[in-house]
Amino acid sequence: MNAPAEMAAVDTHAIQAMDSANYMHPFTDTKELASKGARVIVKGEGIFVWDSEGKKILDGMSGLWCVNVGYGRTELAEAAYKQMTVLPYYNSFFNTTNVPAVELAKAIVSVAPEGFHHVFFTGSGSEGNDTIFRMVRRYWDLKGQPQKKTLIARNNAYHGSTVCGASLGGMTYMHAQGDLPIPGIAHIEQPYYFEHGQGMTEEAFGIKAAGWLEEKILAIGADKVAAFIGEPVQGAGGVIIPPMSYWPEIQRICKKYDVLLASDEVICGFGRTGQWFGCQTFGYQPDLITFAKGVSSGYLPLGGVLVGDRVAQVLIEQGGDFNHGFTYSGHPAACAVALENIAILKRENLVTRIRDDVGPYFKEKFEALTDHPLVGIANAKGLMGGLLLVRNKATLQRFGSDKGIGMVCRGHMFGNGMIMRHVGDRMIIAPPFVITRAQIDDMFALIRKCLDATLEDVKARGWL
Ligand SMILES: *Cc1c(COP(=O)(O)O)cnc(C)c1O
Repeated sequence: MNAPAEMAAVDTHAIQAMDSANYMHPFTDTKELASKGARVIVKGEGIFVWDSEGKKILDGMSGLWCVNVGYGRTELAEAAYKQMTVLPYYNSFFNTTNVPAVELAKAIVSVAPEGFHHVFFTGSGSEGNDTIFRMVRRYWDLKGQPQKKTLIARNNAYHGSTVCGASLGGMTYMHAQGDLPIPGIAHIEQPYYFEHGQGMTEEAFGIKAAGWLEEKILAIGADKVAAFIGEPVQGAGGVIIPPMSYWPEIQRICKKYDVLLASDEVICGFGRTGQWFGCQTFGYQPDLITFAKGVSSGYLPLGGVLVGDRVAQVLIEQGGDFNHGFTYSGHPAACAVALENIAILKRENLVTRIRDDVGPYFKEKFEALTDHPLVGIANAKGLMGGLLLVRNKATLQRFGSDKGIGMVCRGHMFGNGMIMRHVGDRMIIAPPFVITRAQIDDMFALIRKCLDATLEDVKARGWL
């Protein structure tokens, strides 16, 4: 397939010059980017994007874990257009509501796990987690236990980039900028079997890793702990898939100490793991669920919190005003797009397809990458996967962080028309749900070619 004909010609150098003159990018060294020039993405169709030089690239990351129904969906464009011509915006603050927000809340509840009947809308995942932070404290205030304030999260978790989101997250390089985390947030170690579980069965390691939560609750005092928050699968942390024993044990511990359980499903929500929500895949029932990304397939920004009955009843029955919300909470156009996005997921059976068809096929191919000399470990769940690049397969010896092996590999990927992202020495992938078996075959042929190129490069650098 060549670049779609309707693609407008773009002057790459002019755009790059304007980019470095005026545009400060997120999570980017602006000076370094200016020296090499950003890649300009101009068009998307299905699972592919094109850059301004006409290069076609297979988007193995669905944008940023969000374009789940694929690019070029005119249904979503039409939903936005139609809503914008009728009512582009109105707020939900002062005893007003709008039709798409109401319909979307109902649609989300209809696919949510049991025990969820309320949705709080935000503009993003970070704002969803900020909402959880404030909501659980509000809940315990109303329950007459205002001292139950601390939220426990995990190292190497990603919960967004607002002050609260970055604090809940466990990224030390984020904490290092601006004195984070804010008070009232504690972290425990992540359930990363490779780093912390060697010599144990995965099952036993899952129980042990969940036990770190119990230790932390006891250290802080259960009467001071409001909630635990975690991603079903840590996404930005490198697609760290916990053992199946982990989450049910986390649930048991939260129940035992009367700690609310929040599931950050900004990536896992709306089908990524082969169920509508990751907590269903991993067998636990949270009190709160954060969603964003996949709810609208990224076509318009939208996020929110699914509020479980336990919390909703207290907030609604005895709460009065909850002094929290965003200008774009329940944005009509974003909600109209999300509504159509959910309709597409259902109409095309995309979630079931991940569970029964493309998911298992993808997993088999992804985990088979361990036969490559550079790949030490590879694990997948649903349509997401992470692999570890190693120097020595037999001993799983790593390259060392000074080498930037992930960045080297990512360079060969992009250069060959394949997007996988790197997180340290892990390479991660989360392709759009619409990917076909034939496209999965092509994608893995491409990935293998890129791994081979990386291997040659690594040899040439004398790193082996
Ligand atoms: C992306 C992400 C967020 C933050 O969402 P934004 O829309 O970027 O604010 C929060 N949690 C998880 C798990 C994410 O992957």
